[in-house]
Amino acid sequence: MSTRVRFAPSPTGYLHVGGLRTALYNYLFAKSTGGTMVLRIEDTDRTRFVEDSQTNLIESLKWCGIEFDEGPLQGGDYGPYIQSERFDLYSEHAKILIDNGSAYYAFDTSEELDAMREKQKAAGIAPKYDRSTMRSQYTLGEEKTKELLAEGAPYVIRLKVPHEEIKYEDLIRGKVSVNGKDVDDQILLKSDGFPTYHLANIVDDHLMEITHVIRGEEWLPSVPKHILLYKAFGWEMPKFAHLPLLLNQNKQKLSKRHGDVAVEDFKQKGYFADAFTNFIALLGWNPSGEREIYTMDELIAGFNIEKVNKGGAIFDRRKLLWMNSEYLKAKPVSELADKLIPKLEADGIDYKSKEYVEAIISLLRERVDFVEEIPSFGDYMFGDIKGYDEKFMSKQWKDDTYSSIKPLLDELEGLTEWKDEPIHDIVKNFVETSGLGFGKVMNPIRLMVTGKSVGASLTLTMELLGKVESFKRINDFLKLKNEK
Ligand code: GLU
Repeated sequence: MSTRVRFAPSPTGYLHVGGLRTALYNYLFAKSTGGTMVLRIEDTDRTRFVEDSQTNLIESLKWCGIEFDEGPLQGGDYGPYIQSERFDLYSEHAKILIDNGSAYYAFDTSEELDAMREKQKAAGIAPKYDRSTMRSQYTLGEEKTKELLAEGAPYVIRLKVPHEEIKYEDLIRGKVSVNGKDVDDQILLKSDGFPTYHLANIVDDHLMEITHVIRGEEWLPSVPKHILLYKAFGWEMPKFAHLPLLLNQNKQKLSKRHGDVAVEDFKQKGYFADAFTNFIALLGWNPSGEREIYTMDELIAGFNIEKVNKGGAIFDRRKLLWMNSEYLKAKPVSELADKLIPKLEADGIDYKSKEYVEAIISLLRERVDFVEEIPSFGDYMFGDIKGYDEKFMSKQWKDDTYSSIKPLLDELEGLTEWKDEPIHDIVKNFVETSGLGFGKVMNPIRLMVTGKSVGASLTLTMELLGKVESFKRINDFLKLKNEK
């Protein structure tokens, strides 16, 4: 039987990086097993609904290279993949469980439930629905229950959890066992007729023939209820795999308070989609344990759900930054220029030509984390010089600086082949013969040509700027310093 997995987000506004990791592992599993990937929108909790979530979600996933085989993908015809369009189906299924004795009606008011919890708290026991003391079908009897239903009294439908051992084997966590005594009689259908997550999720996983449920560890406590539901319906169970929690650097649950958690934010910051996805893929698993950089195809080829770690995975923002810079160093410059040029245009920066942008990127990409940082880091490569680093200037430009480097400037002015290598040869030769030292020679020139204290290879920078522009800058500076 071929595998079928699903990503089942609730549309609460944005795609959390944890959600992305879940979607990605489902995708890697589907692709590595020749299976089908389904998107299902779990929007039964209308209070948490956020407009446009679905479109944003699909966009964010697509940006990371995750595509679905089935789901609400075509505008207008969403098929069976949106839960809020399937409410009747869930209440029909709740009734099936009533009829076969696996679920029951409960008529308690919220005041009665509060009072029960208070009493339990006072007695020092964990709050749990007590079907034998409350106004459930069991205490009221069949006749009274029918009467109340006929009157239209508000009710919920609860799962009758048997007080016995509930066991299952998780593909990642191994054997898990819970005593039914510690499991609440879960509400399946709420008083407004809406299903809870548990009922809708199980009914859909069954009807959509899901073979493997791969999701975050926070859903682990729900599994016993889900197992009971499968049993109650007499359905075959899918296999479960619960992915490790994502943690902050300080080993706490990843939260907004410690930085971005929405995929959209990382996209906006300028992270590459493939670098970001590569980073996310390694939160809890590594194909070989040796390398860090993998293409999507390599991730698919190496994926094994049983090799996913149990322990929490640290969302290390420094590692993400490092990974992005690795991609920045390795990507074709033409692709990088295509990413940067729209930004240059939007900012009204004159960039001459795509070739020139590509050359600047090759020159500076090792010095920045994001390609978008190049126009500010290397502002002197676009148009006129933007001023001088005052601190650097006062340190590097002394009364005798000009006279000491003048012979070098003269020699450079006479150079006809204005290229990195000959420029470099002349400078090197001058450094050696003058005995001035590299810094004493290069720093003043860097100051004159770029205005900054740091940058890439100065000789390459000068080649790229051209001889005319380089000397224009040198002369402008000398005039400013009354040296000319
Ligand atoms: N709707 C749930 C969520 O928001 C799905 C959990 C599951 O995969 O079962 O994550």
